[in-house]
Amino acid sequence: MRIYNSATHKKEEFQPIEPGKVRMYVCGPTVYDNIHIGNARTFISFDVIRRWLIASGYEVTFAQNLTDVDDKIIKRANEQGRTAAEVATEFSDKFIGVMRAANVLDPDVRPRATKEIGPMIAMIKTLIEQGHAYAADNGDVYFAVRSDPNYGQVSGRNIDDLMVGARIEENEDKNDPLDFALWKAAKPGEPSWPSPWGEGRPGWHTECAAMVHRYLGTPIDIHGGGSDLAFPHHENECAQATCAWHQGFSNTWMHTGMLLVDGEKMSKSLGNFFTLAEVLEQHSAAALRLLMLQTSYRSPLDFSWERLEGAENSLTRIAGTVENLRWAANHATADADAAAAEAFAAKVAETRAAFKECMDDDFNTAGAMGAVFGFVTECNQYLEQAGDAADKAAALAAADTLAELLDTFGIELPEPKVELPLGLLGVAAGLVAYTGDDVDEAAAKILEARAEARAAKNWDLADAIRDQLKDLGLTIEDTAAGTRIKSL
Ligand code: AMP
Ligand code: ZN
Repeated sequence: MRIYNSATHKKEEFQPIEPGKVRMYVCGPTVYDNIHIGNARTFISFDVIRRWLIASGYEVTFAQNLTDVDDKIIKRANEQGRTAAEVATEFSDKFIGVMRAANVLDPDVRPRATKEIGPMIAMIKTLIEQGHAYAADNGDVYFAVRSDPNYGQVSGRNIDDLMVGARIEENEDKNDPLDFALWKAAKPGEPSWPSPWGEGRPGWHTECAAMVHRYLGTPIDIHGGGSDLAFPHHENECAQATCAWHQGFSNTWMHTGMLLVDGEKMSKSLGNFFTLAEVLEQHSAAALRLLMLQTSYRSPLDFSWERLEGAENSLTRIAGTVENLRWAANHATADADAAAAEAFAAKVAETRAAFKECMDDDFNTAGAMGAVFGFVTECNQYLEQAGDAADKAAALAAADTLAELLDTFGIELPEPKVELPLGLLGVAAGLVAYTGDDVDEAAAKILEARAEARAAKNWDLADAIRDQLKDLGLTIEDTAAGTRIKSL
């Protein structure tokens, strides 16, 4: 497996520190508001990366923090006349709920900044003792960037270039404008904790370094986040951890590209965002994931509602093929052509191999999805050629393969809408006493039940049967030749 390491700008052969195990950390959200689909792109990308590592046989330990104390949370709390803890709890809960709705697996460990103050203070003390940090007169503690000879190793920046930007926000409490806060002295009305430097709260970069060390142990195999976090956040996390513990911090750094709308990064500050919750009210998580995974995680991703609609249609098409494969396998009435079945079975194996090859090449989900789409076309061709003589084993293997490959993407196929076997109707409608799987028989029973209801002037039942059919994408049509059920 090869992974692009954004610190070295190279695809590297992945060698976990402990054979068979992967320790992975992805920075979580600052919980002051609902997350948008830009944030979700990053979390869904790493969810798929994690799922693929697991599918490849690794035992993965995945940690993700919740930043539950921060300037933005305090500001939001003040605006709303609530405490910072109330705001953080509300949006932590919402984040966890909406991640589950998006079919993102829960992390193995989910530390919260406010519960990790002790380990952060311990790390800051270690840094001060080793001359990498200093307490300023105002009660802040700063990390001395120039004390770290490797500063810049994550983001590839060079200290002299950084000076240009840093001078703009010079601060007289710092020894050097590049230094960043590890601990911030409390201001009136802000949440704070006691420390050797007085009441205060941790700086943003402090928590991740302390949590990685505490929950995973340094160095870890993979550290990830959006590309906007590479500098300064990840650079500063790395500087703290490597200076405090001298063990390295992360062997591989992975950064996701930004989700864009009309060419601009989706962000709260630009106001060009859609929350994940609102998108999931209108579209399935499966379609959103499919849309995202059709672009590789490192590239920018253009979001539009049309593309999401397109992903929804692609999913329906794949689901229809899976259903048709199963249907054909179970209803074949003639013997299959052995040579055609063998050729089709070979395509199943080729698709799996192509999918794996793409995913092992830096999680190329776009290529892997391409293999799936190509295979769907081949399945449809096979079904058409085979007619009522499809090979049962090959058709079922193809259906299972499609479902399984999509499952490694966390994509659940929707229930097929139109080509639903009528045999399921008796059960689904719940109104007709039929539980078999013979299509014609089911249709006849349904029509019979409706005719009886009408004859008895039981209009409620007759309407309920029609409505249930409609929900399944089917309609009852009365024609001169008789009544029949057809697709809407
Ligand atoms: P934040 O709560 O701002 O720290 O963001 C949480 C995660 O979402 C971070 O990993 C960010 O890099 C990521 N992120 C923010 N905006 C976008 C975007 N437009 N596209 C992709 N990832 C993003
Ligand atoms: Zn972080």
